Amino acid sequence: MRAVSLALVVLVAPLSAQAERNAAAYEKSVKKVNDAHARKPGKNREAALVKKDAATRKRALDALLKKKPSPAVHAALKRCGEAALDLDLMTDFRRIRARLSKSDQAGADALGTAVSRDRFLVRGLGGLDEPYLEQFADVMDAVLDGYDEVFGFKEWSKVPGKKLRVRVHLEERITRPPHFAPQYPWHSEIDFPVIDKKKFSSPTRTGKFLFYGLCHELGHVIAMWGHRRLEEDHHAWAHYTGVVLVDHLTKKHGKEPWMRTLRDNRWRSLAKEREKYANEKPSLDTRDGVMRTLIELHDLVGPKAIGAALNWQDKRDKRLRINHVRYYTFEQLREGFEKTLKNRKKLSALRKILP
Ligand SMILES: [Zn+2]
Repeated sequence: MRAVSLALVVLVAPLSAQAERNAAAYEKSVKKVNDAHARKPGKNREAALVKKDAATRKRALDALLKKKPSPAVHAALKRCGEAALDLDLMTDFRRIRARLSKSDQAGADALGTAVSRDRFLVRGLGGLDEPYLEQFADVMDAVLDGYDEVFGFKEWSKVPGKKLRVRVHLEERITRPPHFAPQYPWHSEIDFPVIDKKKFSSPTRTGKFLFYGLCHELGHVIAMWGHRRLEEDHHAWAHYTGVVLVDHLTKKHGKEPWMRTLRDNRWRSLAKEREKYANEKPSLDTRDGVMRTLIELHDLVGPKAIGAALNWQDKRDKRLRINHVRYYTFEQLREGFEKTLKNRKKLSALRKILP
């Protein structure tokens, strides 16, 4: 008996070591491509990056997929699945998932589902299926198109050329609102809890504004203010862009079926904010003051001009970056206006709002 199990160990050990080596080779290749891109993005887009070093990954994954199911193989497949999402390798991700669901459903579930679009990749965790993600991706596309139409921001990801990531996870209750997770090395990611696995709807029964939340978080993705220790906008910027986008999308798509479950506009609108801060003086010292400043800028020059001022700073790319994330100051925003706003009269009025 003892001899037999010993023989098994001798046989099994190299197999699991091989699986681990395959996973490590796959991960290393993804890291190599992403690191090189983050160092020097140039004009490369993620669609072109997926072709780099593809043979290495194919060799590793093919070898892994040929192996008999075992905990070591499953673990290695999961590692490759995670890495695949870091480089938008959807074909690999689907192969891995299909293979896992045959012999390790829990592993396939832990990996979740994913849908990739031109500008972002949505991942679903906790039992969200692909139709749900497609629906979520439609909303995300509409929000990004809305940002194009209203502000015209040029580059979304903190690392140019990389797609945004949204991690959507199904929860019993929402204890933490959606948030921008700036820590990932190669792309900007939004963490997004939902409670209904059938249809993306908002607000939730307990009054969580998820649709507004998505618009709001993209405001953080496009611009952080101040630096690590000082939030110069006192968290007003993303609120401002969030309500402006909810207004725009509700007006544009209000009659379409998919908007019927997204009703945040009743509670989240620029009109409400304008009313709330009517007696506030523009300043950069408090949240209310910043909110008033942003509303006055919006009313004076319009959101396209605000987008143009930030795009000007982005093109120059001299402002602070922490872990690639772009941090602005209101002084730089003003500088952007000085360089891009052609209307002298509006510019002199703007100098009073943003001294
Ligand atoms: Zn926020």
